[in-house]
Amino acid sequence: MKSFFNAIGNLFRKPVTTPFPAAPTYIPDDYRGLIVFEESLCIWCRKCEMACPPGAIVFSQDIETGKQEYHYSPYVCIYCQECVRACPAPGALLQSAEPGHPGLKEQNLNNGWNKLFDDALESRAAYAAEKKRKQAEEKAKKEAEAKAAAAKANEDNKPTDQV
Ligand code: SF4
Ligand code: SF4
Repeated sequence: MKSFFNAIGNLFRKPVTTPFPAAPTYIPDDYRGLIVFEESLCIWCRKCEMACPPGAIVFSQDIETGKQEYHYSPYVCIYCQECVRACPAPGALLQSAEPGHPGLKEQNLNNGWNKLFDDALESRAAYAAEKKRKQAEEKAKKEAEAKAAAAKANEDNKPTDQV
């Protein structure tokens, strides 16, 4: 009988749950939100990428200039904060308390991310190969110049025929 009256009473009581997403939900103080990157403070060590368990961070590299670019997928991220802990540059990487982010809609979904990730690694390999090629070219050029200079010095030091 008690249950019956409880059930009837519940019909007139307010719900105890939050009607999210119609109304804002409660966010605890230590909420682990999206990762926020501050390019001006980054030292480009890539420790965050190495620390990230699911591969939600990757850096691509320009083949000509060597400039790196940071990429992050909120869909791959498991919000573990390992990247923030691994980052040696204060303020370069933070975990926001914001559950939403203005750039979220423009981010790639998983399939797009996988391609972006592979392309980024490829760009770094291409940059490393190009750097190696340029170094070898520079070395060969210097060797050729040294060889030419030595040959010229040899030529200049040759004794001239006495008249
Ligand atoms: S919070 Fe965890 S999963 Fe997300 S980017 Fe950082 S290390 Fe990767
Ligand atoms: S760990 Fe920090 S400083 Fe290093 S690349 Fe990542 S964001 Fe930049």
